[in-house]
Amino acid sequence: MFADLHLHTQFSDGTYSPGELVDQASRHELVAIALTDHDTVEGCAPTAQACDAAGIEFISGTELTAEQDGHEIHILGYCIDTGDPKLLAEISKFQLVRQNRVREMVARLNRLNVPLEAEAVFALANCRSPGRPHVARALVSARLCANLDEAFERFLKKNRPAWVPKFKMSAADAIELIHGAGGVAVMAHPGLNRSDEVIPSMAAAGLDGLECFHTKHSSSTAERYLQLADRFHLLVTGGSDCHGTSKGQPVIGTVKLPYQHVEKLKARAVSNRAQAQLPSAKKPAKTGVLHQADPQP
Ligand SMILES: [Zn+2]
Ligand SMILES: [Zn+2]
Repeated sequence: MFADLHLHTQFSDGTYSPGELVDQASRHELVAIALTDHDTVEGCAPTAQACDAAGIEFISGTELTAEQDGHEIHILGYCIDTGDPKLLAEISKFQLVRQNRVREMVARLNRLNVPLEAEAVFALANCRSPGRPHVARALVSARLCANLDEAFERFLKKNRPAWVPKFKMSAADAIELIHGAGGVAVMAHPGLNRSDEVIPSMAAAGLDGLECFHTKHSSSTAERYLQLADRFHLLVTGGSDCHGTSKGQPVIGTVKLPYQHVEKLKARAVSNRAQAQLPSAKKPAKTGVLHQADPQP
């Protein structure tokens, strides 16, 4: 029994609809999947519905962009309450920041005499979490670039002329936000960040797990993170990070996480939730409110 806990849909920068994603999951005989669109949980309800119909277990999720010691870190939040008001408020701020970033990238392109319009990017993205991949696709569809690689190489890659730095919250804030929504916080694809030195401080900040298995991790990379997960008492997760077919063949099905890790993930969500209900020394105000609302000791 296998799962894939890192997947994207059209609700961020993936190309699949929830239904198409779940069809692919069925084709690969996955028993559980998690949806981890960037800075949104909008796709969770329709994906959960499609999973229900296909007899696949659904794990709610999102992928947040954060920063730790100058490194960009992606943090996956699993088993989150997708209706949590604080989470939704923060996510809508991130979405606004993303939309402004797209406008700034387009403004830079225009200054380079590349006549792309922000509205063309938003129309193509057709989601609340637009990003660089959408700008690249819009450049290709307007025939301003021959392909996605050219769009990134000429304009959009870090330090290229239309690149705009991304807003990032601290890793500790991302972990807290995920825990506040009853979720489990996992560092995504640590092998892509080349920043293993941040793992101890993130573990101290409450990180729950490491994405040891990922399409771009070699088996020796996976092995290294399995050892680090063991050393810092972190859960092990894995997923393909499939974005659909935008970069050739879909990668869903190429990473198969044994189901026992899903069980541990769900158990952690239960214990995180139980812990969050305890009066917290860090949030005395909240504790006071609880006491006022409930006169029982
Ligand atoms: Zn990522
Ligand atoms: Zn991802």
